[in-house]
Amino acid sequence: MRYGPADSSQTPRFTGVRTFMRLPYVGTLEGVDVAIIGVPTDDAVSYKSGARFGPEGIRSASALLRPYNQRLRVDVTEHLSLIDHGDSPTVPGYHLETLKRIQEHLEPVHRAGVVPLCLGGDHSMVLAELRAAAAVHGPLALVHLDAHADVWESYYGARYFHGTIFKRAVEEGVVDPHASVQAGMRGTLYGASDIEAPRQLGYDAIYWDELEQMTPDAYGDRVRARVGDRPAFLSFDIDFVDPAFAPATGTPEVGGPSSGQALAYLRALTGIDFRAFDCVEVAPVYDQPANITAWVAASACFEMLSLLALRRAAR
Ligand code: MN
Ligand code: MN
Repeated sequence: MRYGPADSSQTPRFTGVRTFMRLPYVGTLEGVDVAIIGVPTDDAVSYKSGARFGPEGIRSASALLRPYNQRLRVDVTEHLSLIDHGDSPTVPGYHLETLKRIQEHLEPVHRAGVVPLCLGGDHSMVLAELRAAAAVHGPLALVHLDAHADVWESYYGARYFHGTIFKRAVEEGVVDPHASVQAGMRGTLYGASDIEAPRQLGYDAIYWDELEQMTPDAYGDRVRARVGDRPAFLSFDIDFVDPAFAPATGTPEVGGPSSGQALAYLRALTGIDFRAFDCVEVAPVYDQPANITAWVAASACFEMLSLLALRRAAR
């Protein structure tokens, strides 16, 4: 049994139940390479809420995706059995319980040898994703694209927020910061000391002013050199993209990459042993009427699938 999307030459792309990329909704993990999993939570945002509807928005936009990546020259359905695995349980208003339920939902996915691609949800969920992945694969190399490093100590005296996760991840030992690269950071900070915070934790940090001078290939080379052959986790915060191209997100920062540039940086991450992916912080309520942000997110997810398909094809 192999799973793939509905054939859009037989039924139009605006028909059918809105799963990711018109994939079948499948509750089991047998015969599956990649499970798309929604994580509808936004309890831990510091500004605009609404990412709990991110999975729904990305799924809806993704109906337009075709299976062949013309830039990477790979058909994702040829090398991967793909399903939409529905949503992770969450508990609105109980953030720590939500993290526990997400982790419990994702750990069996990793144990089954299936790669999860999680649709957020605010970025706080990544801590649960990393805990689940690390329980099976050990500490992961983090490849992180975001306008923010998300390494603050606390908000309002509380330590679990969408801006503190990659500090917690180092403290918990679920990522290896010395094998990890954060890129795209920009915007106003609380103080000068924020700039050195990622490197003090051990991360390689490529701020947007440096990244925009780098070709995608140079970025890919720097990440590959850092990650090596370790198991890796790719986390894509949609606010990495300039809000002119992706406005529907909780904490936008102007002056970033276009959607085309953002996809090019993603596409440059070939050859890495990714064990999990996510795309977070899409809040579709701010996206009307063109659903532009959800469409950028769906396209980013497609690049992630393509990276995995290329790696499987090379085997
Ligand atoms: Mn961000
Ligand atoms: Mn983030």
